[in-house]
Amino acid sequence: MAKTERVGVYPGTFDPTTNGHMDIIKRGARVLDRLVIGVAVNAGKGPLFSLDERVEMVRDEVATLDDPKIGEIEVKPFDSLLMQFAEAQNADCILRGLRAVSDFDYEFQMAGMNARLNADIEILFLMASERHQFIASRLVKEIAALGGDITSFVSPAVARRVNEQFGRLDLQAVNE
Ligand code: ADP
Repeated sequence: MAKTERVGVYPGTFDPTTNGHMDIIKRGARVLDRLVIGVAVNAGKGPLFSLDERVEMVRDEVATLDDPKIGEIEVKPFDSLLMQFAEAQNADCILRGLRAVSDFDYEFQMAGMNARLNADIEILFLMASERHQFIASRLVKEIAALGGDITSFVSPAVARRVNEQFGRLDLQAVNE
C-alpha cells in the first residue's frame, strides 16, 4: 500500500525554545501528519541547557499547544547526522525556519549538502509570522544574561527556566 502519512523532522538546538520556534512548529504540524522535533546535541554551540533539559523544555512547550488542526508531534534528541536521523524517522521532509537573508547562506548550503545525502527527503522552509521573525535563541540568552526582559520572545515557562539558569550560573561563579 502507498505510504499516506506525511512525516517531517524539525531539527534545532532549541537553547532555549522561543516563540519563533513554536510558530514554525505550529505551521509545520498543520501540514504534516506527524512532526518529529529533533533536538540536536550540538555541543559545539556550548548550549546553556543540557540536552535533557532542552528536550523537556520543547516537550513542555508542545504540550501547551491547543490547536485541533495540528497533527501528532513528538520530541526526540539526536546526535547523528541530521539526514540519518530523518531517515530513521521515515521522514518525507526536513523543516527549517527562515528568518532574514542572514539565515539564507547557511541554509542554502546545508540544503544543498543534505540533498546530496538523500534527494528523497525534501527540505522545506517556513517563515514565522513577522512578529516572531527576528527572535533568535542567542539574543534571548544575551538579553537574559544582562538581566533584560525576555517575556515577549519566549513563553513564561521558558523565561523562568532561562532566568533560573542564569541565576544558578551566577551563583556558581560567585562560589568559585
Ligand atoms: P540551529 O542550531 O539548527 O540553528 P535553532 O534552534 O537555532 O537551531 O533553530 C532551529 C530552526 O528554527 C532553524 O531552522 C532556525 O532557522 C529556525 N528558527 C529559529 N528561530 C526562528 C524564528 N524566529 N523564525 C523562524 N525560524 C526560526
